[in-house]
Amino acid sequence: MAAPKVAVVGAGVIGLSTALCIVESCPSCSVTVLSEQFSPNTTSDVAAGMLIPHTYPGTPIHVQKQWFKETFTYLFAISNSAEASEAGIHLVSGWQVFKNTPKEELPFWSDVVLGFRPMSEAELQKFPQHQFGQAFTTLKCDCPPYLLWLEKRGFFSALLLESLYRLKATGVQMYTRKVADLWELHSEYNIVVNCTGIGAHQLVGDKKLFPVRGQVLKVHAPWVKNFIRDGDGITYIYPGIHRITIGGTREKENWNLSPDPGTTKDIFDRCCSLEPSLQGAQDIKVKVGLRPSRQCVRLQREVLSQGGVKLLVVHNYGHGAGGFSVHRGTAKEAARLVRECIAALQGASSRAKL
Ligand code: FAD
Repeated sequence: MAAPKVAVVGAGVIGLSTALCIVESCPSCSVTVLSEQFSPNTTSDVAAGMLIPHTYPGTPIHVQKQWFKETFTYLFAISNSAEASEAGIHLVSGWQVFKNTPKEELPFWSDVVLGFRPMSEAELQKFPQHQFGQAFTTLKCDCPPYLLWLEKRGFFSALLLESLYRLKATGVQMYTRKVADLWELHSEYNIVVNCTGIGAHQLVGDKKLFPVRGQVLKVHAPWVKNFIRDGDGITYIYPGIHRITIGGTREKENWNLSPDPGTTKDIFDRCCSLEPSLQGAQDIKVKVGLRPSRQCVRLQREVLSQGGVKLLVVHNYGHGAGGFSVHRGTAKEAARLVRECIAALQGASSRAKL
């Protein structure tokens, strides 16, 4: 069988990391990313990019932990390399604070992040409205730089693979294209990977997928070095390499992408009450994104068929509020499902020759 042709639809953090995992684990494939939007115009560009998992109620905890661990390990290695600044990956320490002690004092990811411990009384004095807290060090992706790094890494993967394995690889091709129906790709590609985020609501009619609107401010306040997250998950301050993301909102089923000025003021006031020095923040930019939310990430194979013709599909979408935290783990699993599809195609092709 000729080199399998794989189309990845979507160029957010999930599509780009999935395309990269496919070329890395299956160098003989030809991989193309097709997307309506690329960075800086995706939901992934709006995100803070912090590695603090969000829980998916429909996915077993050990699976979520594995995805987070794989992502943490991957990004930790980048943060510890010469690529760190270009990729926008860095370690950041800080506090998660609670007005009331949470039922679960040790979250499932506490032994994956670094140095997780209860906050001391002295640290808690910084937060007079809170009575309990956790201190730890985690990783943060500065989102547009990381997406550009993933694009470049996919594009140049051919050179890397050729030099490492002497394999003729093509790298990832990228084209702007809105896909109206996955079936429209059946004559050009053997396998289609659906990484369209909230776009899957329309593309595959997934009614279990819903938006959770998030409004954030990206501000200049270089003196703020530690992250601060209220345990309710709504108010947070996440310092990046150049700008700080302060937030936020979680508005279920709200599709409105326009910033709301009242919400901007509310976010700013809430964040200043956690970190009063933010009163001096400058160059405030407002961003809105729709978290592609679902009870569980849809990570599965599907076979579409029309008139006896088949198209193999792998879905990888629905990462909600935690796409950055688990992207490498889910991308690896999607790449494994693509390899299963290739084995099925090769099996069918050799049976046809007999
Ligand atoms: P997207 O980034 O939306 O990418 C989808 C891609 O598919 C786009 O390129 C789009 O153009 C393309 N597409 C859609 N439909 C079609 C179609 N029909 N044809 C062709 N292309 C199509 N997560 C964290 O882990 N940590 C955080 O700190 C964090 N902070 C966040 C803060 C906010 C305010 C928001 C909104 C989200 C945050 N998230 C965070 C969540 C994270 O942003 C998402 O989980 C993640 O970006 C989802 O990535 P994605 O690639 O699935 O979707």
